[in-house]
Amino acid sequence: MRTNNATLAAIRNLGILAHVDAGKTTVTERILYATGTTHKRGEVHDGTTVTDFDPQERDRGITIFAAAVSCAWDGHRINLIDTPGHVDFADEVERSLRVLDGAVAVFDAVAGVEPQSESVWRQADRHGVPRIAFVNKMDRAGADLGRAVESIRQRLHPVPLVVQLPIGAEDGFTGVVDLVRMRSLVWADGAGTAVEGPVPESLGEEAVRRRRALEETVAELHPAALEEFCERGTLSAGTLAATLRDLTRTGDGVVVLCGSAYRNRGIEPLLDAVVAYLPSPLDVPAVRGAHDGTEEERAADPEVPFAGLVFKVNASSTGRLAYVRVYAGTVEKGDTVWNPGTGRTERVARILRVMADRHVQLERAVAGDIVALAGVKSARAGSTLCDPGAPLLLEPPVAADPVVSVA
Ligand code: GDP
Repeated sequence: MRTNNATLAAIRNLGILAHVDAGKTTVTERILYATGTTHKRGEVHDGTTVTDFDPQERDRGITIFAAAVSCAWDGHRINLIDTPGHVDFADEVERSLRVLDGAVAVFDAVAGVEPQSESVWRQADRHGVPRIAFVNKMDRAGADLGRAVESIRQRLHPVPLVVQLPIGAEDGFTGVVDLVRMRSLVWADGAGTAVEGPVPESLGEEAVRRRRALEETVAELHPAALEEFCERGTLSAGTLAATLRDLTRTGDGVVVLCGSAYRNRGIEPLLDAVVAYLPSPLDVPAVRGAHDGTEEERAADPEVPFAGLVFKVNASSTGRLAYVRVYAGTVEKGDTVWNPGTGRTERVARILRVMADRHVQLERAVAGDIVALAGVKSARAGSTLCDPGAPLLLEPPVAADPVVSVA
């Protein structure tokens, strides 16, 4: 079976970055729910949240952390890579940032930017990870999208591209106006899928004003959009969406959405934005490495020799699993791979895709994908695995900032 570019273009290797308590677990859980990966609703407080525990392990009372969970949305595969929010795991954050192509930064609509959101944001900056911001907890007393966006602008310095206008506030937060399509999305209690309709009359003028401001902002940043804006005095929804995608991928702007993960509001538009704006493995630079003093780049192409990076190793009911980002080539079940760090060759016994509620066995994994390998015993977090006939040691992740203590 050959893998074509269309398949790679439909992969999103995604991380969720947040200050502890901003709602990362709840957002992740709702994503898995919305994508149908899990049909049971897990709540954080009762310990049934699917990303915190491998369900197979959970049954046996062993708690382990799944490093990556795959799900599907709108013809795309989203590999959700766990990124610890806690500063104590700085190395782990570095490794996960290295293997993902895009991220959703979750903020609390009351607290705005908090210290840990700032540190992971800076780490993501260093890795050049394109981001979308999700202002969560819009249902909380004191929630204020405008203030949260201002705090993002002032403390993190991106150009915020706010693509939604909330409908209702705090307890009465019921939906959003999608400023790209100029439609409203309203959620019924408990429902993840919004009812779409026209922009409510009471918000009509404000929606037009904000859409206009968004067009002006993107036109200033993007020459092609500026041309259309100058010629026609406005931007079509198609041009606006394409421009938002370009600006996200270059890091010149950060699309901002809002919602309430707890109330299951805003998750589907967030998934739509992940698919529309964040890059696929084809859109990011080729991986770099070296062998015998010679530097080499290897493209995200299934046909070139295999090279992958192990970013986490853990135990599961199916044995020791090495989570790998396949950067180049194809790795097949039964293949022999080389670990340049240890000088050992090893056989890939099994290739697994970890879904929220089960492991799926694969015959092969190709460039761009994230899978778990069983059998590669010498692999550690940070190890390269490659084709023994075409050795390559991948560049290590960018070093973490030195810890600065403030007296
Ligand atoms: P994490 O530490 O970032 O993973 O955050 P959690 O997902 O564990 O959420 C922290 C707390 O905030 C939990 O008590 C959640 O129930 C709560 N929470 C998460 N999302 C929302 C939300 O949209 N609205 C409100 N009011 N609470 C939320």
